Amino acid sequence: MTDTKIPLAGVIGSPIAHSRSPQLHRHWLQTYGIAGHYIPMEVRSDDLEQVLRTMPKMGFVGINVTIPHKEKVLGIADQVTDRATLIGAANTLIFRPDGGIHADNTDGYGFMENLRRGAPDWIPEAGPAAVLGAGGAARAVISALLDAGVPEILLTNRTRVRAEKLKQDFGQRLRVVDWVQAGNIIEDAALVVNTTSLGMLGKPDLRVPLDGIGPQTVVTDLVYNPLKTRLLQVAEEVGATAVDGLGMLIYQAVPGFERWFGQRPEVDEATRAAVLA
Ligand code: NAP
Repeated sequence: MTDTKIPLAGVIGSPIAHSRSPQLHRHWLQTYGIAGHYIPMEVRSDDLEQVLRTMPKMGFVGINVTIPHKEKVLGIADQVTDRATLIGAANTLIFRPDGGIHADNTDGYGFMENLRRGAPDWIPEAGPAAVLGAGGAARAVISALLDAGVPEILLTNRTRVRAEKLKQDFGQRLRVVDWVQAGNIIEDAALVVNTTSLGMLGKPDLRVPLDGIGPQTVVTDLVYNPLKTRLLQVAEEVGATAVDGLGMLIYQAVPGFERWFGQRPEVDEATRAAVLA
């Protein structure tokens, strides 16, 4: 990038209008006085490769990737990090000066950073983690929890076979439990993570028994709209540590912003307010 070039970044997906990433990155660009742009772009799956190959020629230094392209970009990128390969999806692309595409997944980093800030007393080794859900987000969460040293992950999903697939991919420290037994694993867990879309605006509530949550439990929800889900409300009522999902969205964006614009951004209340605005 020469001094005269204004760096471009953005997010591609379909649909894309709902994405909060533009608000977040524009807030940081403004905060640090960086002459760059971050643009939401609707891209069809059939056009993905052509779009990605053209973007570096247009001044893009990198992009975020969201549904439904997170898996497909792995097959297009010239270099894929080990964690993106393990997770099976990428959310952050860097366009190298030689034109090559570097793909990474920062969702696990975002999850863990948010958890550590929101629950500073949580110790990964303290006990099992109960993970509800086995979709794309669960893969990033499980990978991060295993890396952090959680001794056992008790995994449950409505569609059991999807959870079994995760056990195959991530190994022995995972134990798959039937969805109807979700209440039991919550009782046994030091950390409870909801990675399902239940509780999200417009979706049904997470209706699994939550009476196993106690004051020592750390509870986190990936859903951030609403910010305080029923799961987090229940956790707060019994004196548990409750960590909302907005921070994960913010922290997963930090490595990309730093790589594209050369400044590691701070995450503070103003950042949260910008995303919620
Ligand atoms: P996904 O791949 O579509 O997975 C959805 C998960 O929700 C699956 O486990 C699915 O179970 C479960 N589910 C959906 N409807 C259900 C129902 N009625 N009863 C029981 N389980 C149900 O989605 P994803 O990408 O993993 O995302 C999951 C959630 O995490 C979304 O709300 C997303 O917005 C949120 N998220 C947040 C962040 C953040 O930064 N905070 C990052 C990523 C994702 P089945 O397998 O049985 O269908």
